[in-house]
Amino acid sequence: MRHLLSTADLSLADALQILDTTEEMSSVGQREVKKLPALRGRTVVNLFFEDSTRTRISFEAAAKRLSADVINFAARGSSVSKGESLKDTAQTLEAMGADAVVIRHPASGAPKRLASSDWINAGVVNAGDGTHEHPTQALLDAFTMRRHRAHSLGIEPAGTSLEGFRVVIVGDILHSRVARSNVWLLRTLGAQVTLVAPPTLLPVGVEHWPCEIDYDLDRALATEPDAVMMLRVQAERMHASFFPSVREYSRRWGFDDRRLATLDALGGPGAIVMHPGPMNRGLEISAAAADSARSTVLDQVRNGVSVRMAVLYLLLSGGAKTAETSSIPAAMQANRAENQS
Ligand code: ASP
Repeated sequence: MRHLLSTADLSLADALQILDTTEEMSSVGQREVKKLPALRGRTVVNLFFEDSTRTRISFEAAAKRLSADVINFAARGSSVSKGESLKDTAQTLEAMGADAVVIRHPASGAPKRLASSDWINAGVVNAGDGTHEHPTQALLDAFTMRRHRAHSLGIEPAGTSLEGFRVVIVGDILHSRVARSNVWLLRTLGAQVTLVAPPTLLPVGVEHWPCEIDYDLDRALATEPDAVMMLRVQAERMHASFFPSVREYSRRWGFDDRRLATLDALGGPGAIVMHPGPMNRGLEISAAAADSARSTVLDQVRNGVSVRMAVLYLLLSGGAKTAETSSIPAAMQANRAENQS
């Protein structure tokens, strides 16, 4: 079995291989016929226990572009809502011949539970588990940053890391699996990360993460970062009041028109403004900022399909189905060996 559960599991070589494969997949997206036969005969199941539009559609598009068969399994309206357990669901999918299971679950650790069980032989891809991780989001963010960095340095992105790239991640870190996955991956790729948030929206133990912490967005922007990533305020996960009011939040931690103007006034190419979506326009990001030339929001969505193609391809392609591999790094080695022979 081979899985992608966390970006913390990826070495620099693994991360670069995924990003370089993504470059190749992205060139397929430019063609008139956007389809490769690479995963013909393979079955990818999208197992979504939590609402999601873009991530599920993105995985579906990725699998279809690689010619895999796709089964979408939404927990609502299925037997899961009648109380079927993760184990029973997994075994049903296994019996149906799933080669990969892309799982989103409200419980942190559910994908790992699935991958480490003997319920299923398929490769497991974590598409977001609770407040824990969302590895393919971090990979598509890193891919977007790497292209931007390469463009401003006038070099080709393939093979390059994010050495020297400075990223500010702002907002609801506490509930954000996107922030967690990004911090580990960006660190591995050599970028410098600063988290900016109200103290109430920082998780316990954040001081041990490989990044800087600041509470003042204007101060962080004055350091002229290369990328500013705004996070969604995850109201559905907030069972207490974490900030005084929406107005207060957006005044202190929102990327508003004034801050957009500040970035523009700094001169130079300035930072790109990123958001994983869905955006709360007017709360963590203003409409003008979201639609500005600095915004990479739609690039991120576009790159998401290419990244997921790369991940599914690396997990499922070649003879890897029978290979004795236990993780994405091992699957990559199997792939590398195969490519060399
Ligand atoms: N779409 C991302 C996630 O699933 C970010 C968000 O929902 O705010 O975690």
